[in-house]
Amino acid sequence: MHKIRLLEECITEFSRLPGIGRKSAARLSMHLLKIKKEDVLRLADKITLFRENIIICSECGGLSEDEICPICSDPKRDRRTLLVVEEAKDLFAIEQTGCYNGVYHVLGGKISPLEGIGPDKLRIRELTEKVKAGGVSEVIIATNPDLDGETTAVYLFKLLKDYSAAVTKLASGLALGTHIEYADELTVLRAIEGRREMY
Ligand SMILES: [Zn+2]
Repeated sequence: MHKIRLLEECITEFSRLPGIGRKSAARLSMHLLKIKKEDVLRLADKITLFRENIIICSECGGLSEDEICPICSDPKRDRRTLLVVEEAKDLFAIEQTGCYNGVYHVLGGKISPLEGIGPDKLRIRELTEKVKAGGVSEVIIATNPDLDGETTAVYLFKLLKDYSAAVTKLASGLALGTHIEYADELTVLRAIEGRREMY
């Protein structure tokens, strides 16, 4: 079979992306030849800009263009309510619903003994420090409803239960195995509204 090297390389790069198989990767590559060259260059430019300029917010651990993200620097957000998520993509999914007005804390993953990820590899110390410092009245734990997510939730509860903040957990709308990033807005909204204190 005759192969065109540049096309093959483009397909290979696309197929490295999540959810993109070789067929989709081939379709995307072919599509780039159909649209205007300047549109392709703009896309490439946006990807580069995005990758080079997005940093981690020093307060919440979410994505930002500046040292402090727009959520953490918004005076209208309720800083007494802290919602803890595994990844920035979960923060993004909850923020999309527009129903949460507190601030966030992104752990940067979840405790996973099988993958060798212990609490020290996550932003847990930063979370404890925030709660210890006072000013937080509720910590909402919004880890995902899988084994590692639950382990992380229980770990955080034990760690935080002796401080003055209430520790709550999302309601069971999300307990059916749906991860936050895939849940529809209504499910996320119900899970936040129906949150309960742990234990
Ligand atoms: Zn932030």
